[in-house]
Amino acid sequence: MKEYIYADNAATTKLDMDAFEAMKPYLLEEYGNVSQPYSFSRSGKRALKDARETIARCINAEPEEIFFTSGGTESDNWALKGVAFKNKFIGNIVTSEIEHHAILNTCKILNDAGMIIKYLAVTKNAQVEVKELKENLDSDTKLVTIMFANNEVGSIQQIRELAEAAHNRDVLFHTDAVQAVGHVKIDVKDLNVDMLSASAHKFNGPKGIGFFYKKNKVQIAPYMNGGAQEKGLRAGTENIAFIVAMAYALKKNCEELEQNEKHLFHLEKVLEHGLRENNIVYRRNGAEVHIPGNVNLSFPGYEGEVLLHRLDLMGISVSTGSACDSVNTQISHVLQAMKLDEALARGTIRISFGKNNTVEDVKKIVFALTKILN
Ligand code: PLP
Repeated sequence: MKEYIYADNAATTKLDMDAFEAMKPYLLEEYGNVSQPYSFSRSGKRALKDARETIARCINAEPEEIFFTSGGTESDNWALKGVAFKNKFIGNIVTSEIEHHAILNTCKILNDAGMIIKYLAVTKNAQVEVKELKENLDSDTKLVTIMFANNEVGSIQQIRELAEAAHNRDVLFHTDAVQAVGHVKIDVKDLNVDMLSASAHKFNGPKGIGFFYKKNKVQIAPYMNGGAQEKGLRAGTENIAFIVAMAYALKKNCEELEQNEKHLFHLEKVLEHGLRENNIVYRRNGAEVHIPGNVNLSFPGYEGEVLLHRLDLMGISVSTGSACDSVNTQISHVLQAMKLDEALARGTIRISFGKNNTVEDVKKIVFALTKILN
């Protein structure tokens, strides 16, 4: 097989082999529906309980505060629509200009349904300022939703302070932590967030499974109506196999968190050092405090799309903008919100390293970029 360097881990990650092994029995042998009372379903029931406890421990939540969903998009939809339904679509929601489309497009729908949406501007490093949030809260605000870390440039937000500002006005706070869970330490009690979204395929779990954290006392409308699964709030037969694999992958990533962080920050350094050594002119976008391994670079005078395809021909996958938006070749809404100069924005690519990448991979990327840019 052709040697390939995968450096688009912010789009998705490789399924962990042990997580894959852990889920296999629930596809082939222990396949009973866990809503049934007979003994054949007992092992699945136990696996569901264990997975919920494992995930809760990883983010310092209570097990009954974890709800299984189909991924980040669904969890984001639930937070926003759950609050909107509960408030009969009256009031406003405060979010930021740099959210993922799972939030932004849900906001559009809620706006059509009558809610007012306020979009906070960000700094040039893609950070939401607490002061800006405070100025936009009012007595009609029902929810604040700010992403934990941006998927394009990796910037991490001051979630604790932003949540505190919302709570001081008795407003619920949700964070889309899809890029952060399994990559940086998350303690929901310390952060004091009311709701949080996560997706397994971003932390070496399977695609199409995720979870939604909701503080016990927070009451929002159900997302899926049907059976009694997930306390009647998210109906549908549980995907035990994927849930087991997700819990396994998250536990493993959380246990390896510090060593992965160290490894990824080292890869970032090797990349930048290599580019400088080869006299490549670039600008790095995003905040100092960012998701390990997320490197967003602008090369003035070049087209990001062209760089992506040239790298692809050399067996290297990186991205421009976000994967979900890759059909849209316009300048990303995140770079626009950061007010990045248009020439720089057009020449932007995102290289996102994962724990499986090596220094050798990075050196090959530097070599390839140098060849293309010279
Ligand atoms: N939110 C963010 C910040 C993301 O990066 C993504 C995926 O790219 C999503 C939400 C959507 O997650 P999923 O692919 O699990 O639906």
